Amino acid sequence: MKRPAGISETMEIEEDDNYEDYIPVNKRRAMEEAKILQKGKESAPNEVEVEKEKAEEAKPSLLVKATQLKKDVPEISPVEQIVIQEKEMIENLSDRKTLMSVRELAKGITYTEPLWTGWKPPLPIRRMSKKQCETIRKQWHIIVDGDDAPPPIKNFKEMRFPEPVLKELKDKGIVQPTPIQVQGLPVILSGRDMIGIAFTGSGKTLVFVLPLIMLALQEEYMMPILPGEGPIGLVVCPSRELARQTYEVVEQFLIPLREAGHPELRPLLCIGGVDMRSQLEIVKKGVHIVVATPGRLKDMLAKKKMNLDNCRYLCLDEADRLVDLGFEDDIREVFDHFKAQRQTVLFSATMPTKIQNFARSALVKPIVVNVGRAGAANLDVIQEVEYVKQEAKIVYLLECLQKTPPPVLIFCENKADVDDIHEYLLLKGVEAVAIHGGKDQEEREYAIKSFKAGEKDVLVATDVASKGLDFPDIQHVINYDMPGEIENYVHRIGRTGRCGKTGIATTFINRNQSETTLLDLKHLLQEARQRIPPVLAELDDPMDEADDVAMASGVVGCSYCGGLGHRIQNCPKLEHQKTQQLVNSRKDYFGGGGYRGEI
Ligand code: AMP
Repeated sequence: MKRPAGISETMEIEEDDNYEDYIPVNKRRAMEEAKILQKGKESAPNEVEVEKEKAEEAKPSLLVKATQLKKDVPEISPVEQIVIQEKEMIENLSDRKTLMSVRELAKGITYTEPLWTGWKPPLPIRRMSKKQCETIRKQWHIIVDGDDAPPPIKNFKEMRFPEPVLKELKDKGIVQPTPIQVQGLPVILSGRDMIGIAFTGSGKTLVFVLPLIMLALQEEYMMPILPGEGPIGLVVCPSRELARQTYEVVEQFLIPLREAGHPELRPLLCIGGVDMRSQLEIVKKGVHIVVATPGRLKDMLAKKKMNLDNCRYLCLDEADRLVDLGFEDDIREVFDHFKAQRQTVLFSATMPTKIQNFARSALVKPIVVNVGRAGAANLDVIQEVEYVKQEAKIVYLLECLQKTPPPVLIFCENKADVDDIHEYLLLKGVEAVAIHGGKDQEEREYAIKSFKAGEKDVLVATDVASKGLDFPDIQHVINYDMPGEIENYVHRIGRTGRCGKTGIATTFINRNQSETTLLDLKHLLQEARQRIPPVLAELDDPMDEADDVAMASGVVGCSYCGGLGHRIQNCPKLEHQKTQQLVNSRKDYFGGGGYRGEI
């Protein structure tokens, strides 16, 4: 229709019969709501109101909620607050990936039952009552924790080792098992996962080596290892020296077994600093037992030179050291290579909560075997602590060496001090060797070999040498300085007083040490019932007030490093590691450094 002149478009629309006023969305919604409510009221007015009231009752406002919550929370005492804080700190530390293979994590595989080994103790031992087992444990000062712990066995014969193994033990002068062996061997032989807490020199190496040899032998009888296959068992150590020492113990038992007509078992020492080709030769033939350091092991696995498809036994020796040295992630990578369930055993001289947390996900119904409190120093060591001024130390050292006949071990924190002392002693005509992380593999091996063989009287070392190395019959350990971490002190003095013999440890302290370290030392001396020198006795002791926290949390001392003179909030080790992490994060990839340079 044609629009007449003078009439606008709007006017035309106004005239449209179907036209409705525009109502904004909000208003439309409100109207619809009102309509529905109206309808509801008409049909059942009370019901809707009741519903509405109910909803209001069930949903209090946020303000009401907040006041209510505040009212409900019980008052937390300062002690409880510290306990909660400590718990959070330790949980945050281990709140990282679990110790499981990626495959297991992805498929949600968790193992609930320990592995079966076929080993059983003789009938009379199996028939021992729980009370009888407890009495034996008490006699041997063994503390056991965990479900259905296998019974303790007081002699090697009843552990059912084959004749050649028993003979080898006898030839080495090992006739009576040590406490960790009395309980640890039955636990591992039964196939149970274990956390072994034993002071250094307690004979723990045999506890994980002998069951591993038995397992490898059994597997070889059932299904011989083919070229390229293996290993059946794996031992991971924190240092090359410790790995070599453990490997030598394994070898010592394999030779008599082979000579007695048992199948050949091939061991492999998988450590850095050694030509990889010679290691690959053994893998090519098929390997039964691997003793490794994490770096080289990870390398071989990543390059697919070796696999863990058949591996069903894993031992982490000196687990606390492995974690401290930053091998946590390497170990996790190793775990990725497992294809099936394995028996996992973990050994350590000190076992603070962080290690137990680290390992918890890897262990199936573990048994904790503890001979002597974790972190406690060896009670067979007479610990003497002397205040010596910094400048008088080196001269006094010479006097100190007269205390006992050789062999003597001297420890210092710094590589430079090791070199200085070594030089000084050589000048004074002392037969001394030295070892620290800055020396090359050949020098380190020469030092250890000649000292072990008794050709040298004194070994000067940084803490690398203290990590579980077995130097027989050390008479005297001299700590040229007090290590910053009490754990290192425990490891150091554990070099003497081994297997029931008494040793002496002399420690020089002065103003250079932090108060926390000295307090830790004081508490350790108190625990081991040693003489407390006046300098330590005079220290202000905050732990006197911390007794309540210890009672409430069940943790005496620091749950991170095990030191008794402080709590986790003031842990020097934790502090040191945090700074280290910060420094490392600033370094480029090849910068490396930190603790690992020391290995
Ligand atoms: P470990 O704690 O494994 O480093 O062992 C320390 C030393 O104790 C090694 O030289 C072993 O040969 C020795 N040893 C282990 N078990 C016994 C035992 N039952 N009786 C005597 N010496 C032992």
